[in-house]
Amino acid sequence: MYFLSEQERKQLLKGLLPKTRRTEVADELRGWNWPEPPIEPVYPVRLALYEVAGRYCPTGRDVYLRHVHGVKTEPTVPMIQGALFHAVISYVLLQTKRLIYLHGVERYREVLGQLNRLAEGDTLGEEADRHLRRLPETDREQVREKARVLRDFEVTQVMARIQDILVRQPYIGTDSLASLAVPVVVEQKLDGSFIGLSSQLSVDAYTSLEMMILDTKFAQRRDFHRLTTTGYAMVCEAVYEYPINIGCVVYGRFAGDRLVVEKDFHVIDDELRQWFLEERDQKSRSVYEEMDPGIADNCPAWCSYRTTCHPD
Ligand code: SF4
Repeated sequence: MYFLSEQERKQLLKGLLPKTRRTEVADELRGWNWPEPPIEPVYPVRLALYEVAGRYCPTGRDVYLRHVHGVKTEPTVPMIQGALFHAVISYVLLQTKRLIYLHGVERYREVLGQLNRLAEGDTLGEEADRHLRRLPETDREQVREKARVLRDFEVTQVMARIQDILVRQPYIGTDSLASLAVPVVVEQKLDGSFIGLSSQLSVDAYTSLEMMILDTKFAQRRDFHRLTTTGYAMVCEAVYEYPINIGCVVYGRFAGDRLVVEKDFHVIDDELRQWFLEERDQKSRSVYEEMDPGIADNCPAWCSYRTTCHPD
């Protein structure tokens, strides 16, 4: 999901990267400006990044109910399913790194053989199995099948990458092979407190090769999904003090027994940064001042707060 095809790499190198060089980001909107407005947190409230970036509730009442009234809801089936698919991707990528370090370049055939067996077996990883058990029994088999399709896709991708690298780099070492075959850090932990977010954030994937933040969604495309990559980019800038200009939301969906992947590359420009800060300030304020933002006009049917907002 996180690897770029030749066409996507070209799109990035010839389209988006030159564009970022022309698009000047205001220094005051870089994460490293966290001790000054507008990045400096206005309210002493620490929200999770998904709470700031999530616009599923149009008024942000879900965040208010959770923090001010302590309302707890059960995760929905799509939420568990999304967590499970993320766990499958992490499992394959971590297994790949583990196998490369375990066997080294010299025994690359053993690495490929074990990856092959991974795709042929039933294993999805412990975390994915835990999510599977949380699902209603009626959904389990169908979701398990989708998870297998996703796992096999990931395994095929990493095996092709390993073979391609080995063909082109006859003198490559083990560490280099691992970093080129899987050039992402999955579930990178970040302290978002500099910019008024939780101190325990976890970004889906960060790739140092392209200096890009990636976020995976198994959901319909929405414009506010870019707020997640924007938030993580600003946190990275605050923590590491280097600029992040590009984000990519990777959309995965299933069409029958096929996985379809689409990537939304975008420049993390001033407009997205300002939008993220507005969301952060508006939601932090409603929590800090215990100010009910009101019930939305068009509540989605699946919202897990419906029984609280619409008790009738
Ligand atoms: S039911 Fe409506 S107002 Fe309440 S949290 Fe959900 S979307 Fe927001």
